[in-house]
Amino acid sequence: MPLSSRPDDPFLEQFARDSFDLFPHCQLCGQRIDRFEEADVLIHSQRVVHRGNCSARNSASPTAP
Ligand SMILES: [Zn+2]
Repeated sequence: MPLSSRPDDPFLEQFARDSFDLFPHCQLCGQRIDRFEEADVLIHSQRVVHRGNCSARNSASPTAP
């Protein structure tokens, strides 16, 4: 569930921030996401990915760390 669908829910907001604190690395490209504002927290799949500039999305062959 994208958090953007529930922007005013304080529990989801805190849950997303806690998730980002635990998993600050993008699950697509493996790079650390600098700021919470740049992360999309996918609650159902419990993954965090870059919201915008993800190198895995921009490249056909993402580089593994
Ligand atoms: Zn990424």
